Amino acid sequence: MSVTSNLQTIRATLPEGVTLVAVSKFHPSEAIAEAYEAGQRVFGESRVQELVAKQQMLPADIEWHMIGHLQTNKVRAIAPFVSLIHSVDSARLLECINREAERCGRVIDCLLEVHVAREHTKSGWEITELQEFVASGAIGELKNIRIRGIMGMATFTENMDVVRSDFERLAAIKRELEPMFDSNFDTLSMGMSDDYPIAIQCGSTMVRVGSSIFGQRTY
Ligand SMILES: *Cc1c(COP(=O)(O)O)cnc(C)c1O
Repeated sequence: MSVTSNLQTIRATLPEGVTLVAVSKFHPSEAIAEAYEAGQRVFGESRVQELVAKQQMLPADIEWHMIGHLQTNKVRAIAPFVSLIHSVDSARLLECINREAERCGRVIDCLLEVHVAREHTKSGWEITELQEFVASGAIGELKNIRIRGIMGMATFTENMDVVRSDFERLAAIKRELEPMFDSNFDTLSMGMSDDYPIAIQCGSTMVRVGSSIFGQRTY
């Protein structure tokens, strides 16, 4: 199947109001260009170097999302152009993004990544830590970031009941935190190739789909 037909198939299943992030990590710029020709404008990458290289090579109206773990010393490279950072998992990172955004005269949209999966390896805030951080009011001091919502990943398992309950928890956290933010807090980024239909049933507004569009990655 071609990138174009994969995209058409997936788009046909997405309800209105759900944004498709085409996750292009490890795939060459040619594949992104094909998706672009098919009308796709939102792409997600997980490594800073790769993101920067592709941004320089590809059309300027692409919206680039950073979806992978982000180190503070790499923020400066993407601050001038990144349109959404999904993977904010510490106060220190958020402060760093705010500083770098201010340097380039921007306000950068961010999602708070929450850890709900059963694996210990996945990044993200523990729920209680995040609740405390939001309640502290510290985010209000950061004028060059805008918190747009929550991002998360389900447990890596074939058991779709577990996956569903992880997504339901993410949706509940989003609802719980909503009153602490303004109306820009509207995004729930969850769902990947294997589980995005379930994520949508649970209220996802943004799905991050890679292999179902571009094929298997070779690492
Ligand atoms: C790679 C990745 C995806 C896409 O995964 P697929 O299974 O290929 O759809 C989504 N979200 C994050 C955070 C990723 O790192």
